[in-house]
Amino acid sequence: MTRMTAPRGAPRRRMARCALARRAIARCAGALLLAQLLVPAIASAQDKGTLNPQPLPPLAKPDDPATPAKELFGRKTAPANLQARTIGFYSKGCLAGATALPINGPTWQVMRLSRNRNWGHPNLIAFLERLAAQAPKTGWHGLLVGDMSQPRGGPMLTGHASHQVGLDADIWLTPMPDRQLTRQEREEISATMVVAEDRRDVDPQVWTPAHVALIRAAAKDPQVARIFVNAAIKKALCRDAGSDRHWLNKVQPWWGHDYHFHVRIVCPADSPECTPQQPRPADDGCGVELDHWFTEAVLHPKPGPPAKPRPGPRMADLPAACRQVLLAP
Ligand SMILES: [Zn+2]
Repeated sequence: MTRMTAPRGAPRRRMARCALARRAIARCAGALLLAQLLVPAIASAQDKGTLNPQPLPPLAKPDDPATPAKELFGRKTAPANLQARTIGFYSKGCLAGATALPINGPTWQVMRLSRNRNWGHPNLIAFLERLAAQAPKTGWHGLLVGDMSQPRGGPMLTGHASHQVGLDADIWLTPMPDRQLTRQEREEISATMVVAEDRRDVDPQVWTPAHVALIRAAAKDPQVARIFVNAAIKKALCRDAGSDRHWLNKVQPWWGHDYHFHVRIVCPADSPECTPQQPRPADDGCGVELDHWFTEAVLHPKPGPPAKPRPGPRMADLPAACRQVLLAP
């Protein structure tokens, strides 16, 4: 389902994750249990990439039904040559006919190119280009875009439980510099940690009105279904939003997400096999739901037993159409 938290004592820099599941979105009652059960993801947005990525070795038995789907989708380096459509749910599906976000735009740059995760449904590409164009008007120089999806979507070998259907994108909470970053910088620089040391609020030294304005602009886009941020960021947004608050409804506190925010767009009209996200409660989420995230049990969960590595879904666990996506030219 999700690998969203790090056990107590894990370095904070390992905690920027993105992975979200349907049932957990609207409620946080299961938060403590999840925090104890879930293993940290292996590759976060903070993990450095490389200028010389090596292809993965071929699988000995790719047709073995026991092969984890992430091993298959993680080896696809190009999109399926099919009409664009998303198949399944954000954390259990795949993507046909993906489009790549160009690595440079007038007001965006793609980070960690070695990960080859700048793929999405055309609606996601259009959304990112729209938000990037709007960014300077919010006081944000431009977007640094982190992980989107793999070329054919699907589960990933590292990092996320969601981002599988080409409708999720991570956007760094670091403003784009006023120059084109080098390939090496895109692999190596770190995003900005905006959450304070005690995890109870944002860091006033780094949090700015432009952060609020950018996230507000994203949330107000009609294509956006949900935005995931650290609870401390939601707290700051609740405080800074003023009287225009309806957009806060789409902003969901989640573990990690203290270096980036995660935008999830709605199921595209061309994708009848896309499973939508459940709606959130209708309020702004700034009351008891938010308070829950700052309880001792959530801020400092007791360590549970060591989590076993999980292989994740096999092909038979994904929608049947994902097999065609995997096998397509
Ligand atoms: Zn994400």
